[in-house]
Parts: sequence; C-alpha cells; structure tokens
Amino acid sequence: MKTRVFSGARPTGRQHIGNYLGAIQNYVALQNSGEFDCLYCIVDYHALTTMEEVGVSHLRGNIIDMAADWLAAGLDPNKATIFVQSHVPQVTELMLCLSMVTPIGQLMRSPSFKEKVKHHPDNVNYGLLGYPVLMAADILLYKAEVVPVGEDQLAHLELAREIVRRFNYHFGPTFPEPQPRLTSFPRVMGIDGKYKMSKSLDNYIELAADEPTTRELVGQMVTDPTRRLRTDPGHPEICNVYTLHRFFSPPARVAAVEQGCRSAALGCVECKAMLADDMNAQLAEFRARRATFSEDYIRDVLNEGAKKAAPLAEATLLEVKGKMGLA
Ligand code: SF4
Repeated sequence: MKTRVFSGARPTGRQHIGNYLGAIQNYVALQNSGEFDCLYCIVDYHALTTMEEVGVSHLRGNIIDMAADWLAAGLDPNKATIFVQSHVPQVTELMLCLSMVTPIGQLMRSPSFKEKVKHHPDNVNYGLLGYPVLMAADILLYKAEVVPVGEDQLAHLELAREIVRRFNYHFGPTFPEPQPRLTSFPRVMGIDGKYKMSKSLDNYIELAADEPTTRELVGQMVTDPTRRLRTDPGHPEICNVYTLHRFFSPPARVAAVEQGCRSAALGCVECKAMLADDMNAQLAEFRARRATFSEDYIRDVLNEGAKKAAPLAEATLLEVKGKMGLA
C-alpha cells in the first residue's frame, strides 16, 4: 500500500510565485513519484478563523481560483485526491472528539495562537484557539502518515502527534503518528525584498498574471541594496532577482547573470528584463492550461475529490466513535 500524504492550504485565491515554489511544486512531485497516495485539501474552515483577512464574500471565489492554479500547475485529479475541507464534514466531528484529549493550556501556549492574537486582538475566537486541533483532525481523518510541512508548521504537527499519542493511550491504537516531511523549499521574498512573498503584504507576483503585469512587477523588484550605481559590482547572493533567476532561467543564463552582476557588466534593469522573459516563458504553458478550465469543471473536480475522501473519513469516524463509546 502506498504511504498516505495529506496537505492542506488555506484558500488564498490566485496563487503567487512563492506558493508555487514553496508548496505546489512539491505537491506535484509527490503526486508524480508514484510512491504516495496524496490528499490535497483546501481548508476553508481554517480560513474562517481569521475572517477579517479573507473576507467571507471572497471565500468561494478564492477556492475556485486556488484549485484552478493547482490543476494548471500539474495536480491531477486522477492521481491525487483534491478536495475542499468543508465538503467532508466528518472533519468537524473528529475535531470535537480530538478536543477531548487536547489540553487547553497547550493550545494557549502555541506561538502561532499568540501571534494571531497580536494581529487580531478584536477577534480572538474559539476557532482560532482550536486551529491546531482542526489541523490534527484534517490529517488523522485520513490516517495520513506523512505531512509535507515548512519549518513554521512543525509545532502544529508536533501537537497533532501528541494528540495521537493521547488518543491511542486512552482509547487503544487508532492513528499512526504523522511524520513531517520537511520541504526544502526556498523562502521566496516579495518584490519589496524585505518580507516573504505574501498576499497580505501585497508584495507578490501571481502565477497567472499576464506577461505585461509580470514584467512590470519584476521591474519593481528590490535588488542588491549595496549596489547604488550602475558601475558598482553587485552581490547576487543577496539579490532576490538572482534567487528567482535560479528557478526560472536556464543554467547558462544563471551563470551569466552571476558573473555579469559581480563584474558590473550587467545592469539591474537588463537583468530584470531577462528574468521577466524567463518567467513568462516558463509559465506560458501553465497560463494556457489554466485558461481552458471552466468553473464547472473545477467544481466537478472538487466534488469528485470529496466523494473519494468521504469513505475514508467515514470509516475513521466510525472507528473513533466506537472506541469512545459513542456508537
Ligand atoms: Fe540583482 Fe541582477 Fe542587479 Fe545583480 S544585476 S543586483 S542579480 S538585479
């Protein structure tokens, strides 16, 4: 039997370069490796924990846009299960069951809870506190054994593993302890060069942006801050433009950029124009494929994904309820 992988992502709408290099590429690689049974979930309930960020009226559209980008980037509904969290409602019941073995103190000490409280002091809701329990339920509902995570998600996954240990101790062996699969993805900085690329910071380049928009945004990217004059030699290792060249440009061009930058033979305007060309070339196929998807097709994919996930969810929930004396 293949090892089961689960990963969830909040519906942030159209995906940006950072999402692609940081997560989506990895999803596609896991799916295509043939070693894993992959479940990829758009976690809409999680989005509601910070409603002010998402805007409820955008939620449905964001789900469709995100799924369109996933599919255009190579996720294949015939190889992976692609679905929306709330379409498999057993997750909420499992979350309630798991909450019985989750100490509240641990949730309150969670660094990300404290961070969210700092950013949303007017809406410190119960859903926010229970976020890690819902995340555990997402994973355990499908008895996933592997979860691709970035360093910043490790603490939540550790909490999920503790929930497993407590549940198994009280009610007998039920869940495998999900193992993290650390993705060695790059930290993609935004066009401001200061912060990680993010929608909330408005420093992103969408995968599906058209060619002129991509060119314009690349043109706005902050470069090596020590290079003040065109004649100053640059330091590609601290330049975000160079980082993206390494992902979007052919090796010969990457080498030429590095050399031209260090020797000051290459100016930043020209360097960015080359990057924009390479990004547009690399993303052309993605954009063409994306344009062929109708909203109905995407909804069908998500509905079929939920139908595939539901029997797994139902079996787990029945087992859990039986062990907890509920069925
Ligand atoms: Fe960055 Fe390119 Fe300018 Fe060098 S030449 S500082 S790599 S933009």
